[in-house]
Amino acid sequence: MIDAIVAKVMEGGRVSAGEALQLYREAPTHVLGRLANALRVQKHPEGLVTYIIDRNVNYTNICVARCNFCAFYRPVGSGEGYVLGFEEIFRKIDETISVGGNQLLLQGGHNPDLPIQWYEDLFRAVKARYPAFKLHALSPPEVLHISKLSQIPVPAVIARLVEAGLDSIPGGGAEILVDRVRKLLNCYSKASSDEWLDVMRHAHHAGLRTTATMMYGTVETDEERIEHMMRLRDLQDETGGFTAFITWSYQPEHTEHGGFEETGVDYLRTLALSRIVLDNFDNLQASWVTQGGKVGQLSLAYGANDMGSVMIEENVVRAAGAAYCMDELEIVVNIEDAGFAPKRRNMHYEILGDPIFRERDVPRMLALATARTDGDTSVPEELSRYEARSRYGKQLRLGQ
Ligand code: SF4
Repeated sequence: MIDAIVAKVMEGGRVSAGEALQLYREAPTHVLGRLANALRVQKHPEGLVTYIIDRNVNYTNICVARCNFCAFYRPVGSGEGYVLGFEEIFRKIDETISVGGNQLLLQGGHNPDLPIQWYEDLFRAVKARYPAFKLHALSPPEVLHISKLSQIPVPAVIARLVEAGLDSIPGGGAEILVDRVRKLLNCYSKASSDEWLDVMRHAHHAGLRTTATMMYGTVETDEERIEHMMRLRDLQDETGGFTAFITWSYQPEHTEHGGFEETGVDYLRTLALSRIVLDNFDNLQASWVTQGGKVGQLSLAYGANDMGSVMIEENVVRAAGAAYCMDELEIVVNIEDAGFAPKRRNMHYEILGDPIFRERDVPRMLALATARTDGDTSVPEELSRYEARSRYGKQLRLGQ
């Protein structure tokens, strides 16, 4: 039966949920890997593996959503809460540009004291100062949060943010797109499965390209992982707006949910299955940030064709225990040792060129930057321009 499903897929057939489950549970790991690799070769016969130089900036860690798998957020009023100032963000962009980067991945908590105007002003200020720089920003739950906070429908929020400079939406906050799971993880209220997919649908209709993600390894069943992939495949059939899929394992340290991290083999099997199920997605990223460089490199034999982002800064998975760091040189060495040609790309997966360090001198980064230096509790001066919603936020701004 496994052989029959493999043959069907190799002939261009599409797996059903039942067939996907059978492969996931019963196919030997090398069979899954060989099939996923063959599909990757069909889509990307040139032998290239891409990556992007960008910076993962978390503009605030204050969040009212309180997902129980998250070690990053701080509640409103916490002494460890922060909002980055525009000048701090500009400094991060300057550093990103100095190592050849061309975009920010900008995401943050659901902060009740940041109205839509704050995001618009930030995006406009970035574009005025760095016209060619790209903003891959605000996952669907953040867009929903802004929509609820400002009482503006999602399509209008997206239109305003695009007008201000938003270039694309990252696929964060999807976790598992099954409401039973979302309720158990306390992330149903930030976005139900339908709401997450609807934000992406609106974004695609507005002409944005976006990514899709899956965080597995908490409370979901195998069937629910596959349901997640099926829902993404359906939306991709409808809009064609997803550029890539990225999956990673839940990182348990310092989280309320606790538990264990799934193994490297489980990661490779899940990645391979996603290449098989998501036949309408061109690009799959290797999550070396959670799996480490070695499993990340192995991912290239299990369906991945992209090494994601050169990591300059990371705050979210590091808060939960993962702290792998690779600069451009290490990513390139990993790609070449695996037998591929490394190429820099942009957010639309268009090739920009060869590794930048072979074209000019760039500083090497051997340590990850953080959003804020430990103990820095400064409040950006421009926050006083925006109306706060929480009592704590109001007090803080009055005290400025
Ligand atoms: S995952 Fe995002 S939305 Fe959930 S608590 Fe953490 S920062 Fe907030």
